[in-house]
Amino acid sequence: MEKVSDYFGCMVFDDRVMKANLSAEVYRSLRKTIDENARLDINVANAVAAAMKDWAVAHGATHYTHWFQPLTGVTAEKHDSFISPSPDGGVIMEFSGKELIKGEPDASSFPSGGLRATFEARGYTAWDPTSYAFIKGKTLCIPTAFCSYGGEALDKKTPLLRSMQALNKQALRILKLFGNNTVKCVRTSVGPEQEYFLITKEMYDQRPDLRFTGRTLFGAKSPKGQEMDDHYFGVIKPRVAAYMEELNQELWKLGILAKTEHNEVAPAQHELAPIYTTTNVATDHNQLTMEIMQKVAAKHGLVCLLHEKPFAGVNGSGKHNNWSLTTDTGVNLLSPGETPYENAQFLLFLCAVIKAVDDYQDLLRLSVATAGNDHRLGANEAPPAVVSVFLGDELNAVLEAIESGQPYSGVDKTVMKLGVNVLPRFNRDTTDRNRTSPFAFTGNKFEFRMLGSSNSIACANMMLNSAVAESLKIYADRLEGAEDFETTLHEMIRKTIKDHKRIVFNGNGYDDTWIREATEKRGLLNYRTTPDCMPHLLDKKNVDMLTSHKVFSEAELKSRCDIMLENYCKTVLIEANTMVDMARTLIAPAVESYTLKVARTAAAKKAVDENLACGYEKDLVRKLSTLTDRIAVKTAELEDAVAALHNEEDIISESNAVRDTLLPKMEELRLACDEAETLTAKSEWPFPTYGDLLFGVR
Ligand code: ADP
Ligand code: MG
Repeated sequence: MEKVSDYFGCMVFDDRVMKANLSAEVYRSLRKTIDENARLDINVANAVAAAMKDWAVAHGATHYTHWFQPLTGVTAEKHDSFISPSPDGGVIMEFSGKELIKGEPDASSFPSGGLRATFEARGYTAWDPTSYAFIKGKTLCIPTAFCSYGGEALDKKTPLLRSMQALNKQALRILKLFGNNTVKCVRTSVGPEQEYFLITKEMYDQRPDLRFTGRTLFGAKSPKGQEMDDHYFGVIKPRVAAYMEELNQELWKLGILAKTEHNEVAPAQHELAPIYTTTNVATDHNQLTMEIMQKVAAKHGLVCLLHEKPFAGVNGSGKHNNWSLTTDTGVNLLSPGETPYENAQFLLFLCAVIKAVDDYQDLLRLSVATAGNDHRLGANEAPPAVVSVFLGDELNAVLEAIESGQPYSGVDKTVMKLGVNVLPRFNRDTTDRNRTSPFAFTGNKFEFRMLGSSNSIACANMMLNSAVAESLKIYADRLEGAEDFETTLHEMIRKTIKDHKRIVFNGNGYDDTWIREATEKRGLLNYRTTPDCMPHLLDKKNVDMLTSHKVFSEAELKSRCDIMLENYCKTVLIEANTMVDMARTLIAPAVESYTLKVARTAAAKKAVDENLACGYEKDLVRKLSTLTDRIAVKTAELEDAVAALHNEEDIISESNAVRDTLLPKMEELRLACDEAETLTAKSEWPFPTYGDLLFGVR
């Protein structure tokens, strides 16, 4: 067995390969582009392209593609081969700097939310040199941003990169105020923990709901679920272990730092966590990870479910977005420092995050909103739909002491004065006990836990970065003009704590009393569904903030809001249609045929002895018959609800109708069918049950 260090990153055109294959001058110039965002000279691009092609061809690649993340939620690629005819009738392998930097895929089949009408059908992709190119199969993949011809973003990477730039700009202003002039760049880093389910391919194939929608639309509870807590961190089954081993190898080849893996709370549920890296790279890696999880599963006769809620009544899957700010000199700005001055700087960045989360609760909530994630948030397993920040008791006490001007007992009964007192050492282990908070400080990073397992992390991070950039901008504006830096700083931090402490909550986020307190006493937002929150993307305060930092244009925001709501409607619509189809062509016929069998049994018994009561059969036939009638009625009602959607005037009213009429009808149909399942012989049921699916991988 090869050592991991021998093959780690072998399919990546990373720094090691660049150094080895580029001239010193080209390498230096490219590094400047990567590290400092410097413009790339076309000669340098040509040299990089040539080296990239030679390296890729040596590794078996025949094609290249610009790899991008349109608003479909999955990645897109359009393969071009390197071959170019040579005069002697043969071919040579070619790849120019121009082809590396820019591509022109036809944008017309990707969602553009109206931007296409305003601009042009064509779009272009632009190389993101900060995310390394890699080989997948026989194709060299070049991470790119995807825009319309007018330069409007049609993807998730473009606004993410813009938000990183915005945050960098404001964070550098703050660092300068603290006398730090050596830092050239501040980046956000992310380590996304990814949850998923594994089921057997054989069972998956028998369930149209899983195949068409990624989740089970029917299914009675299995006798055993997750109540024993025996799966969490439990022994990993051999078949799953083999899967995880191959998954790790494939990820490591692509330079993805897959680090930990374990079983999750629900049966058949698992988690993979990578070591954190720069946000745009982490985003690319997470997209690749999800793709490879599914590919490797197929090789093992398994299917990897990334849906947020594949099984009702069983924990859903999320993605924890561990987020921090780091300088190019290696300092984590969310790590409490060693000196009073560093501590003051830490507290300022901490306050910037608290303020950002409070001011832009709506943006954070809507950045994770999808039809799938609506089943999770607030459903007693994931964080609630109310956004709040967990700080832990120690840090909370420090902030309270600053706010009140009272002594903090942790620091020798002295009054906390910023820039003078050393902060108490936080015990990192005590900061992460709260697993119910949507946004928890965990010692030197924040963990945003509201993301759904299939969400691209780009959306959450572009909102988070932008909101924090806005806090920092307000701070920097004030501090740059301040006469007395320290007093102003102290007052600003104090005011932030006072104004925004309502967002801080250190208790149990699953508790109903918290939801009441949050909404009634504290005035926090509680957007339970996607149609509830998404339109707020266009609230003036949000548009103003996002456009002022040049993360989005107003047109881009409008288009995104439309696309997200359209996605929501389409997702639920497909689910509704799948339910109608399954109820009518699989479930009702199965119940009917079983009813007939039971009725025939009664008739046969009567033929033997007409005095037999046949109470069991009669009762069952009556019950099943009532249920088939109800299934038929509910199916027809759901169909009518689907048809009525055509009358809705715009996407907002359509999405409201989907939430208010379609989803309840789907639930009613499901209830009737699930009840029928509990009364029908297992041998007659037309597809694998929850028990089969959840305990099927051995
Ligand atoms: P925990 O015990 O709180 O889960 P871990 O150290 O296991 O913490 O980290 C969980 C995830 O957080 C990992 O993906 C890890 O890479 C990531 N992480 C750790 N430090 C940082 C950081 N400074 N910035 C972003 N992510 C981080
Ligand atoms: Mg964690």
